Amino acid sequence: MTAGFWTDAALASTVADAAYIVAALLFILSLAGLSAHETARRGVAFGIAGMAIALASTVWVVAATGSLVPQGGFGLTLLAVAVLAGGAIGLWRARVVEMTGMPELIALLHSFVGLAAVLVGWNGHLAASELSGSLRDIHHAEVFIGVFIGGVTFTGSIVAFLKLSARIGSRPLMLPGKNALNIAALVLFVALTVWYVLVPGLGLLVAVTALALLLGWHLVASIGGGDMPVVVSMLNSYSGWAAAAAGFLLNNDLLIVTGALVGSSGAYLSYIMCRAMNRSFLSVIAGGFGIEAPRAGEEEQGEHRETDAASVATLLASASSVVITPGYGMAVAQAQYPVAKLAERLRARGVRVRFGIHPVAGRLPGHMNVLLAEAKVPYDIVLEMDEINDDLAATDVVLVIGANDTVNPAAAEDPGSPIAGMPVLRVWEAANVIVFKRSMASGYAGVQNPLFFRENTQMLFGDAKERVEDILRAL
Ligand code: NDP
Repeated sequence: MTAGFWTDAALASTVADAAYIVAALLFILSLAGLSAHETARRGVAFGIAGMAIALASTVWVVAATGSLVPQGGFGLTLLAVAVLAGGAIGLWRARVVEMTGMPELIALLHSFVGLAAVLVGWNGHLAASELSGSLRDIHHAEVFIGVFIGGVTFTGSIVAFLKLSARIGSRPLMLPGKNALNIAALVLFVALTVWYVLVPGLGLLVAVTALALLLGWHLVASIGGGDMPVVVSMLNSYSGWAAAAAGFLLNNDLLIVTGALVGSSGAYLSYIMCRAMNRSFLSVIAGGFGIEAPRAGEEEQGEHRETDAASVATLLASASSVVITPGYGMAVAQAQYPVAKLAERLRARGVRVRFGIHPVAGRLPGHMNVLLAEAKVPYDIVLEMDEINDDLAATDVVLVIGANDTVNPAAAEDPGSPIAGMPVLRVWEAANVIVFKRSMASGYAGVQNPLFFRENTQMLFGDAKERVEDILRAL
């Protein structure tokens, strides 16, 4: 191929348009693949292929047209520096992040998408535009909406990052009249948008940026610990819409399609999670709209009983059915390998062993499924909450390994509890419950758990991995 082929700007743009369609299709196939265990690997491969095609064709367009900075090859140098720096940081973070740190990393990445949309919007305002008439009005509306969505996503994601990484408390911020504040902010945004389309002044852009940053911060700060899973997927959705808004401004079809895919799938995931947790979708996306300040509820509620590994081993050896309900503590302790070995050992003795997975167990959707798959637990004994809940009453022993909020009877029995109405694994109906944790501390939602004080519950204190290994030795 001649050098002219690579520097033919018209050819590069046409090929890039086609490549973007192929990449968009690969992203759709990727999402479809990720919806089931068996096809997840293929889904990831499609995603990587789509992104590689998108990146390669973008680099070619930049090289051929010098579209970043028209003079000479400077645009390409800028692009190379950005891609190398971003790629290196991304690779480093992905390699060192612990599985339990994934949600906060994802929240931080969403904040970058939000920030990018704000910067693209500002650029759209500052760059000279040859548009006129209604096209010019549409351009200004795009700038304003892009900056607004991006700003909300940016600070919302930063607050989510701070909450998830325990740098700030997980309790909801309850400003007086918080719902009125949110509604007033939305009304103000609409009014400012109309004004900006009519008279696009820099002051209005500064005002909407500040408004969006404050609103994003307030929306997420108002949501309590138990609802954080929904917030993470909601911010995922916002980041998609922010990317789509940037796509309109940059005239980039792939960014529009990808942003819409992320935006709509994130919104749908939030909706499914809200249904699973018996929360109102609108209430959560409106920053805890209509949710009253919960009471503290951290006080202990009676006597708890302690047990030791040898006694648990004896109990398990005489059981005929065992259910294991893992939670965030199993992830912290990295106890999935000994837990898988325990399940295998009990199954070899003829005990019926199954796992019950709560939809928000751990710190991200599917967290427990990933850990158990990693430890090679067969899929067919890993059941969803709804599949196992009715069997718990007929179960001899339930092992609660590092789970807390997801097995809290207060959710079902105490209408005043901050997690009231959230469906939980009804482990307390089993004949015996063994709770593995290090102390009597509360879970992520900050609520005490009456399960620990029930007649049929015994506490096995200590690191979950060490305690399960002790049981394996005693067996
Ligand atoms: P919880 O956070 O309710 O409880 C985890 C328990 O594990 C704690 O009580 C802790 O007790 C114990 N633990 C921690 N480390 C260890 C260890 N090394 N060994 C033994 N035990 C340990 O977890 P759940 O999984 O039950 O519930 C998930 C919570 O997280 C819910 O409130 C959910 O809303 C929230 N959440 C979920 C997200 C999702 O997408 N799934 C995202 C964000 C939040 P102790 O300190 O005494 O050991």
